[in-house]
Amino acid sequence: PGKKVLIVYAHQEPKSFNGSLLKIAVEELTKQGCSVTVSDLYAMQFEPRATRNDIVGHLHNSEAFNYGVETWEAYKSGGLSKDLVEEQKKVQEADLLIFQFPLFWFSMPAILKGWMDRVLVQGFAYDLSKAYDGGLLQDKLSLFSFTTGGSKEKYAIRGDVRYLLWPMQHGIMHFCGVKVLEPHICYAPEHASEEKRKEMLTAWTQRLKTLWKEEPIDCSPEWYFK
Ligand code: FAD
Ligand code: ZN
Repeated sequence: PGKKVLIVYAHQEPKSFNGSLLKIAVEELTKQGCSVTVSDLYAMQFEPRATRNDIVGHLHNSEAFNYGVETWEAYKSGGLSKDLVEEQKKVQEADLLIFQFPLFWFSMPAILKGWMDRVLVQGFAYDLSKAYDGGLLQDKLSLFSFTTGGSKEKYAIRGDVRYLLWPMQHGIMHFCGVKVLEPHICYAPEHASEEKRKEMLTAWTQRLKTLWKEEPIDCSPEWYFK
């Protein structure tokens, strides 16, 4: 109770399975007394491209544009574009970040990747010697909740689903100092029976009920590749 949750949601259709997972999370967490904010990226028409437009003031070096350097400088001088500042504020206030999305090419949809690229600016999320356990977004938790097209069995044959979580959980969240909870994966909702789909939705509600008692994973290579 009293915890702040930011759900970054990347699906175009509210009636989708992802839409149902989002709805459940908002309802259950609100019921627990958490304050829940949703960044509905498609509805916001969130800009995923990392461009010069992200810097509103003058450029540090207008001769040769360097996105990382320019956003870092702009962050320090308050010159980042308004949409980025708003997302950073939501991240800053949150105790828990939930990412809700369908798996696209073993990764996240471009609009969500763009959110990572643009919001987690140097100086805000990490700094030169401040990364991983020293990252700037400490005392926050993250949870990747996603759906797949492929079945659980196929993922077991093709290789552990944990491999594809390495860039997202370790490369992004851990890098920024954010602790990582077990991912929540709903396999192949499109190919499941109505009954199985309802079961998967109930499982998400159940997990959320005891979420705050969970320990973060040990986000080291062993968790992913052992
Ligand atoms: P939906 O189709 O919206 O939902 C499935 C069914 O659930 C629908 O019939 C819907 O009506 C129903 N439903 C919704 N809410 C409820 C409810 N409350 N109760 C009961 N039923 C409900 N998959 C992979 O495994 N690996 C990949 O690398 C991959 N890459 C992709 C790349 C692209 C570009 C695309 C477009 C897809 C890719 N996929 C991949 C598939 C993708 O991950 C799945 O299509 C997606 O995860 C399915 O989720 P959804 O929310 O869109 O499902
Ligand atoms: Zn890690």
